[in-house]
Amino acid sequence: MRVYDIILKKRNGLELQKEEISFMVKGYTEGKIPDYQMAAFLMAVWYQKMKPQERSYLTLEMLNSGDKFDLSDIPGIKVDKHSTGGVGDGPSLALTPIVAAAGGVVPMMSGRGLGHTGGTLDKLESIPGYQVVLSREELELGLKKARCVIMGQSENVAPADKKMYSLRDVTATVDSIDLISASIMSKKLAEGMDALVLDVKTGKGAFMQKLEDSIALARSMVEIGVNLGKTMFSYITDMNQPLGRNIGNALEMIQAIETLKGKGPRDYNELVLTYSARMLVMAKVVKNVNEGKIKAKEMISSGKALEYLEKMIRVHKGDPSVIEDYSKFPGAEIKKDLPSPQKGYISQIDAYTVGISAVLLGAGRETMESRIDYGVGFILNKKAGDKVEKNEPLATIYANDEGKLKTTEEKLIQAFNFEEKRSKIPPLVYGYVTDKGFTKEETPRP
Ligand code: URA
Repeated sequence: MRVYDIILKKRNGLELQKEEISFMVKGYTEGKIPDYQMAAFLMAVWYQKMKPQERSYLTLEMLNSGDKFDLSDIPGIKVDKHSTGGVGDGPSLALTPIVAAAGGVVPMMSGRGLGHTGGTLDKLESIPGYQVVLSREELELGLKKARCVIMGQSENVAPADKKMYSLRDVTATVDSIDLISASIMSKKLAEGMDALVLDVKTGKGAFMQKLEDSIALARSMVEIGVNLGKTMFSYITDMNQPLGRNIGNALEMIQAIETLKGKGPRDYNELVLTYSARMLVMAKVVKNVNEGKIKAKEMISSGKALEYLEKMIRVHKGDPSVIEDYSKFPGAEIKKDLPSPQKGYISQIDAYTVGISAVLLGAGRETMESRIDYGVGFILNKKAGDKVEKNEPLATIYANDEGKLKTTEEKLIQAFNFEEKRSKIPPLVYGYVTDKGFTKEETPRP
């Protein structure tokens, strides 16, 4: 087999065989195929796309390039959730302890912030002492004690993806449905889950900005999982404006805790309940989503979900006293309101611009080496559709550096768009995807 012939075959739009995909992935991971040939191959895939069978082969090859967790000796259906990423996108922090409290088992492996999007692990690390790395023994013990963990990927999970992703990042080949599907699913399959609910975002702050592309991405991932014997379900949710009100690591952790105390922002809370309910159905704890929602609400009102959050923080060696005392989180020295330049209605809060503003403030990484400032971020006082008076605060900025504050103020204000009359805002949920395809079922933003 020759690399050149495989690139040529894909470039000409032909379907690759299992052996050819395996040859490319193995050869590249082992350093036998140079970056320039893999880059040409990735670009050929970007243009010519893959057939479902090719995508499954690619995913399996990437999955088999590294370690796989076998959780079959841990009782119960292991259920996980994965979001394709967004701004203020922290429901995993709240729904994981809810599902565990209700009887589900959640071995969640999460990631760090990528570009303008926040990362679940970065948010959890704002809890003093929280360790995202767990050994196999700690994971097992954690699932016994807390029925849930939220951990980082071990070094050797899907190493082919690590190498290919870095190359995609610099060769304009990230936004390919085939390559994103194989990248995400190879990592999720490695963690040993039985069932996975996906949150595929759509809109300005998402990887896929067009609804039809988000649906295609969800279909592709659902199909890969189902073909490998997993129970799969995907919602398509809005990421035109940020979710919830808090953006920033400690601030999002506080928002999750407030949600478990029954005081979450309405849109965030609705997604937390929707996902918890779906996961409880997939874990066979309840029969349907309505029962699941009732159960999830009970876990919040009884305080049981908070108890499970506390247990999970202890498993990860973090300080659970943050749950009652938010001053234990890293804080911000400067607190400044962002005044509205005009009166009217907010037509849109561009999630991408808000995400970039948070990175400028220090809440995300500008380079791989950047250190995160866990205490900084924003609390949005207004959301799309809200009425606003001139000079009324649109958001409160939490900062630790005057220079960064100034740059951020200039950027953040650009995220807000105004109109004289209130117009329709996008729904919170557009619908869902199963192996039968997409069903439109909108949930308005509450
Ligand atoms: N997240 C991933 O893990 N991989 C992608 O390709 C895109 C988002």
